[in-house]
Amino acid sequence: MKFPVALLASAAVAIASPAPISAQPSQQHDTVDASVPTQLPRTAIPHHYALTVTPHAERLTFDGKVAIDLEVVAATRQLVLNAADLKIASAALRPAKGGTAIPGRISLDAKAQTATIGFPKILAKGAYRLELVYSGKINTQANGLFALDFKNKEGKDSRSLFTQFEAADARRFLPSWDEPDYKASFDLTVRVPANQMAVGNMPAATTRNIGGGLKEVRFQTTPTMSSYLLFFASGDFGRITKRAGDREVGIVMSRGNESKAQFALDAEAQILTHYNDYFGTPFPLPKLDNVAGPGQSQFFGAMENWGAIFTFEYALLDDPAITSESGRQSIFAVEAHEMAHQWFGDLVTMAWWDDLWLNEGFASWMENKTTEYFHPDWGADIERVASREGAMGLDALNSTHSVVQQVRTVEQANQAFDSISYAKGESVISMLEDFAGPDVWRAGIRRYIAAHKYQNSRTTDLWKAVEAAGAKGLTAVATDFTTQPGIPLITVGQSQCVNGATVVTLNQGQFSADRKQEAAASPLAWRVPVKATAGGAPTQAVTAGRTTQLKVPGCGPLLLNPGQHGYYRTLYTPQQARILAGHLPELAPVDQYGLIADSMTLSLTGYQPMPAGLDMLNAMPANGSAKVVQQVVSRWDGLYERLDGDPAAQAAIAARVVRTFGPRLGELGFAPKAGEPAVDAVLRPTLIATLGKYRDPAVLAEASRLFAAWKTNPDAIPGSLKSTWLGVIARNADALTWDALRERAKSTSGTVERTSLYQLLGRSRNEALARKALDLALTDEPGKTISAGMMTSVAAAHPKLAIDFVLSHLAQVNELIDISGRSRFMQRLAGSSRDPALIPVLQDYANANLAESDRKPIQQAIDRIRSESAQTARIRSESGAWLNAHS
Ligand SMILES: [Zn+2]
Repeated sequence: MKFPVALLASAAVAIASPAPISAQPSQQHDTVDASVPTQLPRTAIPHHYALTVTPHAERLTFDGKVAIDLEVVAATRQLVLNAADLKIASAALRPAKGGTAIPGRISLDAKAQTATIGFPKILAKGAYRLELVYSGKINTQANGLFALDFKNKEGKDSRSLFTQFEAADARRFLPSWDEPDYKASFDLTVRVPANQMAVGNMPAATTRNIGGGLKEVRFQTTPTMSSYLLFFASGDFGRITKRAGDREVGIVMSRGNESKAQFALDAEAQILTHYNDYFGTPFPLPKLDNVAGPGQSQFFGAMENWGAIFTFEYALLDDPAITSESGRQSIFAVEAHEMAHQWFGDLVTMAWWDDLWLNEGFASWMENKTTEYFHPDWGADIERVASREGAMGLDALNSTHSVVQQVRTVEQANQAFDSISYAKGESVISMLEDFAGPDVWRAGIRRYIAAHKYQNSRTTDLWKAVEAAGAKGLTAVATDFTTQPGIPLITVGQSQCVNGATVVTLNQGQFSADRKQEAAASPLAWRVPVKATAGGAPTQAVTAGRTTQLKVPGCGPLLLNPGQHGYYRTLYTPQQARILAGHLPELAPVDQYGLIADSMTLSLTGYQPMPAGLDMLNAMPANGSAKVVQQVVSRWDGLYERLDGDPAAQAAIAARVVRTFGPRLGELGFAPKAGEPAVDAVLRPTLIATLGKYRDPAVLAEASRLFAAWKTNPDAIPGSLKSTWLGVIARNADALTWDALRERAKSTSGTVERTSLYQLLGRSRNEALARKALDLALTDEPGKTISAGMMTSVAAAHPKLAIDFVLSHLAQVNELIDISGRSRFMQRLAGSSRDPALIPVLQDYANANLAESDRKPIQQAIDRIRSESAQTARIRSESGAWLNAHS
């Protein structure tokens, strides 16, 4: 699964928390590991599901029947399986060898999301077939079977259906043992309108007309797999295909959008061939589709269903009317992510959600690694470090968690899809690959996939495989970073030049944003692979204990973590930092990025004064690497926001950014240039948006000119910059402008463009217009999956307004967010706030709406606000002085 790619929202609400999942005592059974936590008694194991589903799209319901071949592994009077929001009409059990059906008595437990089928006598161990006839709901958000409405090629209203099951929503589609280690094969049959296309994990085996305007499609049997990977979609689709070796790859999209899918199709074929080699085990299914859905989720952007990836259109289709260069790059990255899951997650699956990071960390790492391999000019190495910074933002708080964590409820499984599982997972894997060396690492991955294919595994299985491939000592490092939370802090002591080498003592502690003193007094301990250069070849040592001596060849500027694969922060002496700042222009962009990130973060959290970070930031030349300049501009803007309430300091920052980076934008030009470097095409919108925010007259004049032209000619603004220029307009909009934008949003039929325009309506700085956007979000106008994104958009500039609004319309807002995204919606709305007055509001919300075990996202939001607001006074006075001295 992949996080929402664009800036999205989600809404918060009362979460019905399912019963806690407990580790069951060991029972005898064949393939399922009894030590894995489960909600279900381990008395039976499913092997095969034969499932027929008939959707009634107009009524938003469906009928189903399923025959489950299973093994009773412990004598029992009842079978317990998962079911949510299903009505089961009948249940019958037959011995596999034949014999009379035993009728079952059905009882449903909505809270536990289970169905218990009771039988008149004890079932002996052995093979049976359980037959269930049932019905269920089609949802309007992305959980279970869900509908997305859009205008088709002819401009008519059209409804397509899709499924989304991770983490625990297959149980909304079929009664099933819906936990990842109950792997089984699936025969899916669907009855859909004869003029629609149906897509499943496997190619269709048979298709026949059954009258009444319907056809019946039976898909080929899947390999054995986890229930959360099952997929079905039907709609007014087109499909384009290509060969990748002996497999077919395809993109499925709403009919008429075929040309927008070519970029994704080409990438898919390229990546599949590459992965067949990397993993050493060829893609095991006959075909791989990527299915585009028109809409959004607050929980995810794409999902790795085996053989039939699902991706929202905005993250898959390259639409010349609206897709930016960074959007186009993310199409490639998201495909690389979901396709990595076809092996890592689908072929080999974590035994339980405790190890979710193994899926997500690996796919996130592979995403940037593969992008760097095919598109070295896109700066994916810097994206990898940006991910690390995102992870560290959360990992520096007291309410963080370890990468491998305990998950005991469905809601906790949903919450595990966070930046620790994804981005810290990615960073740790990146560090371990660097430690092992890429060839040994890949040999270990091949070994791991071969040993566990079609089965489940745990984190420790991966370490064993890589260590067996030759990475001595890897398990110790990996264990320290995955089983305990937090970030090592390496404090560099005074260095000396001795016989042409730099000799230095490293002191290891723990970096914390909100409990610095406690972390300093009793830090966690890690074995950290630390690398350093001093002008010569890099040297590496694994730290042991609080101090480590390092002898680094050369006596040049001492740089730790060259290449930025290490997951730690580095605090230099003031003198070392000054030397590094002096040499910053000569460093590799990835190290410039890492050094600035470390330095600014250490200043903002009080590990060093603000001037140390600002000097480093200021040392980056405006004509340097586009990716790093983008970061520098964003960091200045972050400081601008931190200085809210100090207009003089804000004005000084705005003037500095315009003065320093305006000329760079002048060189790039306001419009895309044919054949320009991809990183320039990504830097341009950052500069336009930031300078527009600081009311640079040249940018505002160009925005007004383009907007006026666009009102009569939709092609007046280049598609790749449309949301950027309209973002400048929306931010400064008056009521007339806002109304014009809304009219255009209303009349736009392309889902991706339409969604962007509605989200822009939430961007206004003007509070009355922001309020209008919130009201509009609750109407039917934007569409069921767009509204939540509008609220998030408002929250960027008006967090308190958006939160108050959501709290006073909680029930309505909840309907606009997928169930699995609800608990994080409020965290996201609070994301731009540093107002301590929000803390009790968030606390009350959590107490009233979330089970105690499910409040982590809210606690993280509170911890962040508390730790950042505690630094505000110091940041203001120190930054103000620096700005005065450097004006
Ligand atoms: Zn994923």
